[in-house]
Amino acid sequence: MTKRYPRLTIKYQQILENTRVVNELCKARGIAVTGVVKGFNGLPEVAMALDEGGCVHLGSSRIGQLEELKARDPLIRTMMVRIPMVSEAEAMVASADISLNSERDTLMALNEAAMANEKVHSVILMVDLGDLREGFMTVEELIEVAVWVEKDLSYIHLMGIGTNVGCYGSVKPTPLNMGQLVAMARQVEMAIGRELEIVSGGATSSLTLVARGEMPQGVNHLRIGEGISLNRDLPMLWDCHIQGLHQDNFILEGEIVEIKDKPTHPLGELFVDAFGNRNTYEDRGIRKRALVAMGRQDFLDHTALESVEPAIEVVGSSSDHLIVDIENFQGKLKVGDILGFHLYYGAMLFTTGSPYVEKIVVRE
Ligand SMILES: *Cc1c(COP(=O)(O)O)cnc(C)c1O
Repeated sequence: MTKRYPRLTIKYQQILENTRVVNELCKARGIAVTGVVKGFNGLPEVAMALDEGGCVHLGSSRIGQLEELKARDPLIRTMMVRIPMVSEAEAMVASADISLNSERDTLMALNEAAMANEKVHSVILMVDLGDLREGFMTVEELIEVAVWVEKDLSYIHLMGIGTNVGCYGSVKPTPLNMGQLVAMARQVEMAIGRELEIVSGGATSSLTLVARGEMPQGVNHLRIGEGISLNRDLPMLWDCHIQGLHQDNFILEGEIVEIKDKPTHPLGELFVDAFGNRNTYEDRGIRKRALVAMGRQDFLDHTALESVEPAIEVVGSSSDHLIVDIENFQGKLKVGDILGFHLYYGAMLFTTGSPYVEKIVVRE
């Protein structure tokens, strides 16, 4: 059978190795890791690498992905990392062992669903340390809700507290904000009269503190997705290089459908592109470029792609086309040839979810 493109090759063994490296690094500092699978749409064949590599739970923001993992292996412990919807309380109790929470109404709905199913559902209460996405804004409210969960919600187990930084407000994890989290955990423990099992200090970006030995004592859990599956943000954006982590676990391949010398600046009066954006174009004269048969529907944004061949430059994209500059590429290219690209997070998220992208998980 002929191969179909665009085609995404995913390297299981390397993701497994990354999982082991991250888990060893964290374990040495008393930190357990939830492997977060949402970045690759929870593809079960890939998620299994995070399980096999030593993560204590698998986490996702989408309950459907956790349901699929549970169906595959009921022994996998699952964590819902987005604040649950009230409407999915039943599903949460059925398929997520743990969820991250910040609302009383939701906790009440979870308690009722758990009671109805004669189960105990575990929760981590989230605090907002300034990134301004989910979580309680004050320690007073956190403590009040923690005491209420502990005393009044018989089918909810308060497992710990946690925070998330970076995702909306671009806030960096620092010894200061992580220290605040630990201090809050100690206050909650005083109020409920027992220790918490989990103090969850964030996602991939928090690995930077672990790698530098700057994570405050007391943070004993992280929720890691990108840093295990892709590991492109840490070395490329954070200048954090963890020995032994692969950076080429996902390769997107597309087929060239046109090669021509063209001007680099559009001709005529310019208005908006296919998405209504006003763009600027650098005039670099006439250059050789290739048109690749994949587009924003597949990978969201061409800036989340990086050519495997350093001499090939990603220039632009529309829904179904990618434009690359091949002027400086030494090799010979023709229509029908295949070009490979590394992905950043957004492109991993979209390509793994696209029905138009052929996904191949290689195991060797
Ligand atoms: C997505 C998410 C994570 C994992 O993020 P990565 O950057 O992929 O490590 C962790 N925690 C929460 C709450 C998330 O939403």
